[in-house]
Amino acid sequence: MQGPPLIVANAEIRDEFIVAGMERLQAGAQALEVAEYVASLVEDDPAEHTVGYGGLPNVLGQVELDASIMDGATLRAGAVAALHGFRHPIRVARQVMERLPHVLLVGEGANRFAAEIGAERRVMISPGAAVAWAQRLQAICADGEPLDTIELATRALRASQGSDTMNVIVRDSAGNLSSAVTTSGIAWKYPGRLGDSPIIGAGNYCDNRYGAATCMGLGEAAIRVSAAAQVVTLLRLGWTAEAAAREVTGQIAHLIGTSHTPNHMARADWVRILVVDAQGNFSAAATRPGLSFKVHVAGESRPRLCEAASVGASLS
Ligand code: ASP
Repeated sequence: MQGPPLIVANAEIRDEFIVAGMERLQAGAQALEVAEYVASLVEDDPAEHTVGYGGLPNVLGQVELDASIMDGATLRAGAVAALHGFRHPIRVARQVMERLPHVLLVGEGANRFAAEIGAERRVMISPGAAVAWAQRLQAICADGEPLDTIELATRALRASQGSDTMNVIVRDSAGNLSSAVTTSGIAWKYPGRLGDSPIIGAGNYCDNRYGAATCMGLGEAAIRVSAAAQVVTLLRLGWTAEAAAREVTGQIAHLIGTSHTPNHMARADWVRILVVDAQGNFSAAATRPGLSFKVHVAGESRPRLCEAASVGASLS
């Protein structure tokens, strides 16, 4: 039996963006269109410091953007990484899927493609993000010692902040699923660092037959367990959305718990996974308590705020 259309998103997304997506969904738009649309609204929000305009830059002061989108009906996917100077990475990711026989473009190639398709340009560093970067740099260079980029990033990342990737999973009235992820990544990252968000199977995976999963938080951990693809594989094997989210989150909690090196990104060492199965059942799990997400079911007036299950390390 088909469940109602719904949108599952991270809690940091404003209600009005999710409601705007639901209006389109109820007017007959397909999941893929709505996922891209909601992501593009978040990319314009200057109050969101880890996505699109207003996102915090890499350690050299450049905002590098990662985004991916996947269509659960066809398993087509598109992604860009280390894109800079374009307003809507998620739209560029969608066009990679539509116009090229590729899935992922990075750096200069992604920028070339965005320019060729006429994507809208924008200076992506906001005044607030520029000030935050300058202050961070000042704090880590206080001793006046000349530092290479490795040392700059290592010092800056020890006090990393900003980890709020935009995750949205949409299920339309025909039961199609689509998932979109867009981010400026971990603040003060080494230039060229990609997290899980643009990597299909790590931060984003979607298959109408089984379900969809997206991740937020420490991308390095999600990449190392192929988190999103693993969740969907568990759904394929008959696990519930909740059990699949808990299992993969437990693996990540274990990984994070064993990764305490001097370079450890101590303030970004958590992950949250959102899951929607093929029937529209949803769940979320996180490696620390107090992380929530939003669910907007067709027919309800506004999104509900739900708490993600907090999961400790597991090795099953
Ligand atoms: N997952 C993102 C990354 O590692 C970070 C985030 O959630 O903001 O790039």
